[in-house]
This record gives sequence, structure tokens and C-alpha cells, in this order.
Amino acid sequence: MRGLYIHIPFCNSLCSYCDFPKIIAKNDIKEKYINRLILELKSYKNYYDSIDTIFIGGGTPNSLSFDMLEMLFNELDELIDFNKIKEFTIELNPENVDLKLAQLLKKHHVNRISMGAQTINEDILKLLNRHHKKEDIIKAIEIFNSVGITNINLDFMFGMPNTNIGMVKEDLNFIKELDLCHVSYYCLIVEENTKLNTLINKGKIKPLDDDLESDIYYFIADEMKKMGYHHYEISNFAKNGYESIHNLKYWNTKEYIGVGAGASGYLDGKRYDNFKSVFKYLKDFKEDSYELNIQDKKEEFFLMGLRKVDGVSIKEYKNRFNSDPLLDFNLKKFLNNNLIIIDDDNIRIASDKLFISNLVFEEFVGE
Ligand code: SF4
Repeated sequence: MRGLYIHIPFCNSLCSYCDFPKIIAKNDIKEKYINRLILELKSYKNYYDSIDTIFIGGGTPNSLSFDMLEMLFNELDELIDFNKIKEFTIELNPENVDLKLAQLLKKHHVNRISMGAQTINEDILKLLNRHHKKEDIIKAIEIFNSVGITNINLDFMFGMPNTNIGMVKEDLNFIKELDLCHVSYYCLIVEENTKLNTLINKGKIKPLDDDLESDIYYFIADEMKKMGYHHYEISNFAKNGYESIHNLKYWNTKEYIGVGAGASGYLDGKRYDNFKSVFKYLKDFKEDSYELNIQDKKEEFFLMGLRKVDGVSIKEYKNRFNSDPLLDFNLKKFLNNNLIIIDDDNIRIASDKLFISNLVFEEFVGE
């Protein structure tokens, strides 16, 4: 089965570390965008029998007004048979959650919430230009639970300037108290065109030391495991049965429809990218579309599969491509350097090398 990804490229304010495509826009632009998005959604109506997951991401989907969200949900109700949908996630900022919104989501079949927490440390939240507090997260979760939505993910971040292991312990204690179903824990990457990068370049703040970042990553992974979470992807942890079905489609290179400015999709063997600019998207949807050859498909399956902690199933690879990954890829160097391990049916990144997985991927692409 396929997934459906819907991108909402608007935010209420801009986080200091973010380089995703997003804008702060007035309501008239948002209205035009929703109408356009609905038009694009309708263009895929023949495919909706084949989807079982939906993910509305951003940007900040709840930067849309209640009426705009309702309009989008009503359209989805028209197009999609929700009996087939196993997981319907929406990303939200915790400070803009209220009961009316939660009831709307419940009414329209949303069964999973993903909120950006990043940390509970107020000084660091200010540095990141996030406008919520720990109390907003607790309140939002209580509101969702009150309407019967209990499958909740929080995104956390580590490796921010001015942070230390003590702060990470406080975030982990918070996660423990909340007893969440799912946690995504990302290492901050200071991207070029961000405010954080400017502050670092001006010498106003110092990036965290790489070795400390690595120690923190493995500390988090251990602590999450002790709390009963399954570390199933480099940055993702789930209680049993709560692994994200939609995101696993990306790591298993399954097909998905992507709609909205900046969205990409993989449909009928072709990858496509929509225009990133909202204004270009209002005129035309797709910027690019390209077919993958068999070699591209094998590499994608292999590299995306390595993001999963269990790695790539040799059996699944053989079934999909009718060839052997051990012959298709030159793994000698990676095995000799203990970067990659072969356990029974799986080829995976060694547990103590997960933090440097990006280097492994770069090496692979350079092979
Ligand atoms: S809310 Fe998300 S998309 Fe918007 S600026 Fe912050 S990190 Fe970027």
C-alpha cells in the first residue's frame, strides 16, 4: 500500500535552525494555497484506493485557520475511504492546540499527532525561537487524550549550542513522565542560511563539540531503551507497535503521493518534486519528474534501509530485485572497518556507528 503526504508550508514564526521550505503568509495566500492543494489532491483520486497512511506535515499545519483545516479535511473525507487508513498523522505546534482543534482532528479520522518539543529548557527554546513551554506540551497532550487521540510523537533535539548532558537528562525525564508512544530525537545540524549559523559565525555562540554530541546520542539511545522504547531508525524510538507506518514507507522505499509546495512523491516508479515556492506552486504543481533505473532503485532501497536500526533484509532485497545485495554492493571496506555488520538475514550499520551513519552513506555514494 502507498502513503499520502500533504505539505503545509506556512509557519507563524521562523525557528533559528530551520532551512525547510516555509513562509509566513497572510490569510489570502493561505486560502489560495488550500484551493490549489485541493485541486492537486483531486488529481490523484484514482490512486486513493491504494493508500493506507496519511501524513500532514510542514511547516506548521496548525498555522492554518480552523476553517481552512476543516476545508482540507472535508475534501479528504470526500476522496478517501477511511476504513482503509491505518495511520493518519498531523504535525502541530503545541502552543496552538485547543479543544476545538482536537475535536476537529478526531472527527476527521486523525489518529496520530506529532508535535515539535525540541527541549523543555526555556533558554534553549528561546535560542531556537520556539514559542512554547513545557506546560503547553503537557496541556496539548491532555487535550488530545480527552478526545481519544493517544498515539502521540514528540520531536526532540540535542546538540544545540549552550547545552549539556544535564539538560538532556531533564528532557529524558520529561519523556519518561509523559510515557509517550513515539519519540523522534534529532541531532541539530547547523544549516548555512539560518539565524543560528549567523550567530555562530559572529562568535556569539559556540557549536557543541562533536565528541560530546556523539556521547549524547549514545546516552539517549541507551536511556530510551531502558524506558522500553524500540530504537528502530537512526533518530526514531517507539513503544512496541507504535513505529510510524507512514515513515517506514520512506525507509522501505515504498511508493507515496506527495502534494503541496515543496512536497515530493514516488508514484508508478517515478519520483517527482513539486515547486518549493508557494507562488510557483499556485501556477503549476510539478517542477521535476524522473524515472528510476534498476540501479537507482537498488541503491535507494539499500541506503534508505540502512537508516533502520535492523538494516536491510537480504531476503526482501532478493525478492524485490531478483539479485543478491552482497554481490551488488562492494561491502568489503565497510565490513573491514566494522561500519557495517551482517547478522543472519540483515545488513545493518554497527550499533556504535549509528551516529556517524551519514559518513557511511557518503562513503557508499562515493564508491
Ligand atoms: S515550525 Fe518547523 S518548519 Fe516552521 S520554522 Fe520551525 S522548524 Fe521550520
